[in-house]
Amino acid sequence: IRRNAGEVEFHQAVREVLESLGRVVAKHPSYADNALIERICEPERQIIFRVPWTDDRGQVRINRGFRVQFNSALGPYKGGIRFHPSVNAGIIKFLGFEQTFKNALTGMPIGGGKGGSDFNPRGCSDGEIMRFCQSFMTELHRHIGEYTDVPAGDIGVGGREIGYMFGQYKRLTNRYEAGVLTGKALFYGGSRARREATGYGATYFVQRMLETRGDGFAGKKVIVSGSGNVAIYTMEKVIQFGGVVVACSDSNGYVVDESGVDLDLVKEIKEVRRERISEYARLKGAGSHYIPGGCVWDTPADVAMPSATQNELTGKDARTLIKNGVIAVGEGANMPSTPDAVRLFQEAGVLFAPGKAANAGGVATSALEMQQNASRDSWTFEQTERRLARIMSDIHDQCAGTAEEYGAPGDYVLGANVAGFVRVAEAMNALGVI
Ligand code: NDP
Repeated sequence: IRRNAGEVEFHQAVREVLESLGRVVAKHPSYADNALIERICEPERQIIFRVPWTDDRGQVRINRGFRVQFNSALGPYKGGIRFHPSVNAGIIKFLGFEQTFKNALTGMPIGGGKGGSDFNPRGCSDGEIMRFCQSFMTELHRHIGEYTDVPAGDIGVGGREIGYMFGQYKRLTNRYEAGVLTGKALFYGGSRARREATGYGATYFVQRMLETRGDGFAGKKVIVSGSGNVAIYTMEKVIQFGGVVVACSDSNGYVVDESGVDLDLVKEIKEVRRERISEYARLKGAGSHYIPGGCVWDTPADVAMPSATQNELTGKDARTLIKNGVIAVGEGANMPSTPDAVRLFQEAGVLFAPGKAANAGGVATSALEMQQNASRDSWTFEQTERRLARIMSDIHDQCAGTAEEYGAPGDYVLGANVAGFVRVAEAMNALGVI
């Protein structure tokens, strides 16, 4: 704790994984040898850099950039870039740590990493976003590459930002290295279904989990927090499975629409106009309402899909959801439920899918994008989504099977942590003390 002083989210993420490892070490004591667990908790490399850029008034602004290359035992570092004012070293480290196990769960040859900046894109013009992305990549480019480290998007980084960063990488290196970034647009090497993958994947995972109880999304009321990339495509797949999305949010408030959220309208507001979710109630009118501030989890529902950010669902929220009869929770975001909330859900017998398993569809499809880039191929949407659905089903079964093997049937948190850890640990052991 002293060595990583003040990095509260990193401590939280590490503690959660370590709590699951007691059973593994009891069964396989060799995993405690050679400081393997300590090495897994220590990033291989952390890069912190200055990002100067010029705003539209001609004023020079400074932000801080981060890239944490956490673990490359299974493949090149892989993980998104986040632009949000809350970003600091502890948040990027927690995300990189989680990413290592998540990537292992996909069964694909990718290590774990994460990056970002405390830059706030909200209210910035397109020109400011471009200049920021170019400056960020001017330093980042020397640390990444198709065989080294392959970043993607995350909060505040979508197709537009990936495009500007790819353009600057190409300019600096004079190489058309399509596989250096994922989440690209289709016409310069992107994959179909990548944009949809995290939300679709989380929904496939929860559907599979509900099926273990002979149930499914059909007819269920669902809350999806956030209204960004993960939230929008979670809503889309929930609706395709016959569920009714009753509420969604952003960081200023939430909307409730008991007749089912109109997803075309959400997409228009968030993806085209880049406006706030409060616009939804104004444009939709009758039947919907917007609650400024407030808490989206107060809406009665059968399933909750937290898809915004870390620690957005607290113990108090979990109690409300349980009181309202929630039967399943699927984390589309990274670590959105506090440890308290997770414990309460598990004690109440609510099906709980942790982010590192449930949201792995995004990075898995990024790995499929890398495959397409390497073979200069481009798959159809249906083919890519079929692969995604298969991967999510395999991750589900792997978590459920591991939980059972280690004496905790139904505990997807333990199953995900143990299955991810064992894969990384085996690779690290095979490579010597690294
Ligand atoms: P976006 O930037 O597209 O959307 C984020 C959404 O969450 C926005 O609605 C935003 O609202 C809201 N939000 C962000 N920060 C906060 C906050 N502090 N409090 C309340 N609401 C907040 O990001 P993504 O959809 O890509 O990412 C969402 C989550 O999913 C993150 O945890 C991310 O790490 C995780 N994830 C994303 C993957 C991907 O492929 N994109 C892959 C795997 C995980 P506002 O506009 O008001 O800020």
